[in-house]
Amino acid sequence: MEALRADSKRSVFLLEGERIAFGASGRNGGFCDSSLTHGLANGLSRFPEEIERLEELGRENLAGIARVVDEFGIDARYEPVGLLDVATREHEVADLEEHAEELRHYGHEAEWLEGDAVRAEIDSPTYLGGVWQKTGVATLDPARLAWGLAAGAESFGGRIHEATPVLGIEAEGSGVSLETLGGRVRARRVVLATSAFPPLVRSIRRYVVPVYDYVLVTEPLSHEQLAAVGWRNRQGAADSGNQFHYYRLTSDDRILWGGYDAVYNFGNGLGPHLDQRPETFEMLATNFFTTFPQLEGLRFTHRWGGAIDTCSRFCMTFGKGLGGRAVYVVGFTGLGVGASRFGARVALELADGVDSELTRLRLVRTKPLPFPPEPFRWAGITLTRKELARADRAGTRGLWLRALDRLGLGFDS
Ligand SMILES: Cc1cc2nc3c(=O)[nH]c(=O)nc-3n(C[C@H](O)[C@H](O)[C@H](O)COP(=O)(O)OP(=O)(O)OC[C@H]3O[C@@H](n4cnc5c(N)ncnc54)[C@H](O)[C@@H]3O)c2cc1C
Repeated sequence: MEALRADSKRSVFLLEGERIAFGASGRNGGFCDSSLTHGLANGLSRFPEEIERLEELGRENLAGIARVVDEFGIDARYEPVGLLDVATREHEVADLEEHAEELRHYGHEAEWLEGDAVRAEIDSPTYLGGVWQKTGVATLDPARLAWGLAAGAESFGGRIHEATPVLGIEAEGSGVSLETLGGRVRARRVVLATSAFPPLVRSIRRYVVPVYDYVLVTEPLSHEQLAAVGWRNRQGAADSGNQFHYYRLTSDDRILWGGYDAVYNFGNGLGPHLDQRPETFEMLATNFFTTFPQLEGLRFTHRWGGAIDTCSRFCMTFGKGLGGRAVYVVGFTGLGVGASRFGARVALELADGVDSELTRLRLVRTKPLPFPPEPFRWAGITLTRKELARADRAGTRGLWLRALDRLGLGFDS
């Protein structure tokens, strides 16, 4: 849609291997965040010299999403409710208090809530304190958003071909030729947004690994169950360990509860057989009832998983292939619902060879550190996961994590 809005004379095709919202876009937690950098803290550590501008651009981007939802009457259940980030361990409290200050410094409305004050918002015996970020985060129904955007793009003349996997791309004359089962598609330029799926240009494979993230959804809460957790302001919520849960109310008052167990499968493993993982669902359910013991007996009606395009700096990365004829934007890690709109706009400018404020950003020009090849990739990620869990228990980062921090390498969902 952005491509057609920018230039209505463009001819735009979308080739989707499955159907719209088949990938992460139809399976995520529905947190739509203004951050373009997988959170302010990550942005501050990686792009200190431009974080102020990135935060502004992110706010404009989120406002743009709200505008499009409104303009096209997309039934995306968009709720600008903010985020309650909670501390459940003593050592998380000071970091979160600092986070509240940082948010305020960069233009957000954010309030630190101690003990009873945080439990007055959402009632869990595990909460010690929390930051209520009142601006910059909305919750929504992501699949409905994707379907609405697809309809909007078609109304501008865009052509969408589902069930059309692209099998390969190559340069042809001054353009590109894309191979599909039904024949070849020729284009002047191509933007690749293949996320965690097997890439069509080789360099993506070095920068992105598919990491599985899992979600449970409860049955709708009764009036009494809702009263038992409070949650009158319907904020999105997350706890703040390295391994964290994210959770929220849906429009029909279910609780969506996901995260915590980020699973990498050897050799960039990916496929429908990984969408269900009983041991992760069990762990998520146990943690749910530790957080909300007053909801004991509530049933989970839906459970699923999906692949996240994790990169070592946790936020979008751009690149070119086929001598600039193909541009890619991947690596949103766990926070791409909002950021992918910005990524798409920048990728279009890159495809057109535009020199602009956006294409000159360090976020756009620089690359994350690549992941090593197998078997070092699997071994490194597995060790990192173990060390992150240990750091959550101990409250300090061990030697391995400190070494990765120094290298600017990370692993997250
Ligand atoms: C369980 C889970 C929870 C998440 N929670 C959140 C959240 O709460 N908030 C947030 O901001 N982000 C979240 N994310 C991440 C977020 O969903 C994505 O970053 C965002 O939707 C952007 O996705 P995308 O368009 O880059 O990739 P996708 O939605 O995965 O789209 C890629 C598409 O490319 C298609 N494709 C791949 N290869 C080919 C090919 N060769 N030919 C044709 N088509 C191809 C795929 O079929 C797929 O539909 C979550 C992700 C998961 C999996």
